[in-house]
Amino acid sequence: MKTHVQVAVIGGGVVGCSVLYHLTKLGWPDVCLLERSELTSGSTWHAAGGFHTLNSDPNMAALQGYTINLYKELEAISGLTCGLHHVGGITLADSPERMDFIKAARAMHRHMGLDTQIITPEEIKELSPIVNTEGILGGLYDPLDGHLDPSGTTHAYAKAAQMQGAEIYLRNPVTDLNQRPDGSWDVTTKNGIIHAEHVVNAGGLWARELGEMVGVFLPLHPMEHQYLITDDLPQVFTRDQELPHIMDPSGESYLRQEGKGLVIGIYEQDCDPWAVDGTRWDFGHELLDNKLDRIGDSLEFAFKRFPCLETAGIKSIVNGPFTFAPDGNPLVGPIPGLQNYWSCCAVMAGFSQGGGVGLSLAEWMVHGEPSRDVFAMDIARYGNYCTKAYTRNKVRENYQKRFSISYPNEELPAGRPLNTTPAYTIWQQQRAVFGQGYGMEHVNYFAPEGESLEETPSFRRSNAFTAIGNECRAVRNSVGINEVHNFGKYLVTGEGAGAWLDSVMAGKLPQLGRITLSPMLSPSGKLMGDFTISHLAENEYQLTASFSAQDLHMRWFEQYLPAINVDLKNISMSRIGFQIAGPKARELLAACTRFDVSHSAMPFLSVRKIEVGQCDAVVQRVSYTGDLGYEIYVPVEQQISLYHTLANEGMAFDLKPFGMRAMMSLRLEKSFGSWMREYKPDYTPMETGMDRFMDYKKEADYIGKAAALKELAEPPKRQLVSFIVDAIDADVVADEPIWKDGNVVGFVTSGGYAHFSEQSVALGFVPTQMIVEGATFEIEILGEMRPAKLFSKPLFDPQSKRMQS
Ligand SMILES: Cc1cc2nc3c(=O)[nH]c(=O)nc-3n(C[C@H](O)[C@H](O)[C@H](O)COP(=O)(O)OP(=O)(O)OC[C@H]3O[C@@H](n4cnc5c(N)ncnc54)[C@H](O)[C@@H]3O)c2cc1C
Repeated sequence: MKTHVQVAVIGGGVVGCSVLYHLTKLGWPDVCLLERSELTSGSTWHAAGGFHTLNSDPNMAALQGYTINLYKELEAISGLTCGLHHVGGITLADSPERMDFIKAARAMHRHMGLDTQIITPEEIKELSPIVNTEGILGGLYDPLDGHLDPSGTTHAYAKAAQMQGAEIYLRNPVTDLNQRPDGSWDVTTKNGIIHAEHVVNAGGLWARELGEMVGVFLPLHPMEHQYLITDDLPQVFTRDQELPHIMDPSGESYLRQEGKGLVIGIYEQDCDPWAVDGTRWDFGHELLDNKLDRIGDSLEFAFKRFPCLETAGIKSIVNGPFTFAPDGNPLVGPIPGLQNYWSCCAVMAGFSQGGGVGLSLAEWMVHGEPSRDVFAMDIARYGNYCTKAYTRNKVRENYQKRFSISYPNEELPAGRPLNTTPAYTIWQQQRAVFGQGYGMEHVNYFAPEGESLEETPSFRRSNAFTAIGNECRAVRNSVGINEVHNFGKYLVTGEGAGAWLDSVMAGKLPQLGRITLSPMLSPSGKLMGDFTISHLAENEYQLTASFSAQDLHMRWFEQYLPAINVDLKNISMSRIGFQIAGPKARELLAACTRFDVSHSAMPFLSVRKIEVGQCDAVVQRVSYTGDLGYEIYVPVEQQISLYHTLANEGMAFDLKPFGMRAMMSLRLEKSFGSWMREYKPDYTPMETGMDRFMDYKKEADYIGKAAALKELAEPPKRQLVSFIVDAIDADVVADEPIWKDGNVVGFVTSGGYAHFSEQSVALGFVPTQMIVEGATFEIEILGEMRPAKLFSKPLFDPQSKRMQS
């Protein structure tokens, strides 16, 4: 065994072997894999081996496509077979809502270049005669679906990695991990200590334990899962062609051919988190006891859908555990706060995702960043709020909803409320309908008296439509109040604060008392953040950005923070407050403070530390609503006091509360982009229009400067633009294809109904040469082509007079 390696990958399941292969492929041969037992000794050996491209995140879906296309390469390099069966797959739809769901998925696939199709019940029957199509309205056919041999595939990854220089040490459990002062690791194994510059946790069922070795809780949990293998069936073995996979969301089941019989797996509602107190180290190639009573109802449903099952004998039943994160996507990347320790776990579909996950992690380690945005599987999308019990509740919910329809406006209930602000009960009394992000409750909208306190999940305009419209009009006509707790906020202080910010931010730093907006870039010039920078005092700045990007941003800042002269604090939860917005906002603020807030004393993009009511406040004259507005931040313990001041004085101005849905509608009529929709690490400043906030001329050699200057010299081929859409009862959400002359030329990043302007709006990317005011396109919404007209001046207040006056 080597005593020093560049990377020690812990875990010889399909994921660890994929990481090992991709590290060698990208040019790091000095790597080893440490496996407790034999390869495939966790979840991998008893997987059903199915693979598919479907994922609600387009980048995840693309990585799944990469994984599936990789298997031929692996077979060619290793000389081993992956046992591939490319049989195609059909997702059944038996209600109008499920048809909407598959149509939305199909539309998204178009701009991703995936060749899926909506097929009729007759076509389903033709492809798979064992399906009873009674009640079926249609299906989504994916020719890339199929299945493979889990063990053969894992060994193919391993052998290909070994052929490129990697070493694999079997029957050699890692028992301890200790970090040296330089950030490298002493990895204690049964057969001795290996000094590794980097460690990868690909421990699958034991990933939690490997995290605990370094004092880290990883938000994942194993769940039990069962599938049945039938005896040979004439309906199967008399065919000369293999049957396609069938996903039946209503029955929570997937079904495929196995030899001359069938395999049916069930995501049952009555499900069990497994090994709540930890996975035993001696858990081996074992299966769990069958729990057929739990899948009785689902089986009965399956007998109706696939009548040949009713008389089929059962050859074997597999009940095995595998791991899930709360949203079902993997946990990949550098763990915030820990140097050279990489997470690569919670991969619940190892044979659909393992290749893409391994590639992305290897790119991150070797090149410093993945080649595409992987936030959907970045470990940093979760923060400290994820307790063990919350994780368990969310994982269980995710398992239950594995095959359910995901609606764009849906708010999942498990584990809520977890984090709330003091204002929560005030909003409750005002009939708030809540949503949640990054563990924190926020108001989506306020339900009028007599109306339901729940928003109906839908792909179309929901029951909240009128209420949201009223909130938007209240803001534009007088003044509205909305909580601004769900921004990530950071306090940067110290003698070196300005110089450091100048080196991480690509925009101008503000003068004292002023605010600037600034992109933050990665070395390759992609967007890492869109920040509001407020210069509060000498050597004191407040940064404001996306709430759910807190761990992403803190990890980034810490990577570049100097050892001395700069102090950085995440104050997202300690400094919260409200925004007031609308034409009466200044009069309201003036009524709440003795400070002069007139336009000359406090112009647009200024910041002041003043008393509002009896609270110590930081007041910023900005508003994401695009109206005259102020964000008022106070210490968390003064939030209620601030609320009462604003609410009491607000009575004279007809102050009305508004929620996040209204805020997102208001920003649309100003064509303001939002983080992880229009702005994310897939896009650049010039593509998104963020170049207007760049300081290309500044002296500081900020991160991404060379790439930004290169882009300035060679402008991008696509750009973000806005459209008015001739929508009927459904607006765009995201990822709809944009068509021109019968071809897909772009895609939507977000949109919705702009209530005050009474227009359906979409934001999205199209080729630069097509950007002409008034140019017409079509956007595919739920299978229908809707006319869309490009516009460049904001629908509301195009001169920004309201916002700046
Ligand atoms: C019943 C069932 C059916 C499934 N069907 C499918 C399917 O059809 N398609 C699909 O894509 N996925 C399926 N899965 C999920 C799939 O099995 C997992 O996604 C995949 O196996 C995860 O692989 P992994 O490498 O992350 O983890 P694991 O397979 O759990 O591997 C982790 C490895 O790490 C090793 N290890 C842990 N700790 C240490 C240590 N301290 N030192 C050394 N080694 C250590 C373990 O021994 C183990 O070999 C199914 C799972 C189950 C249970």
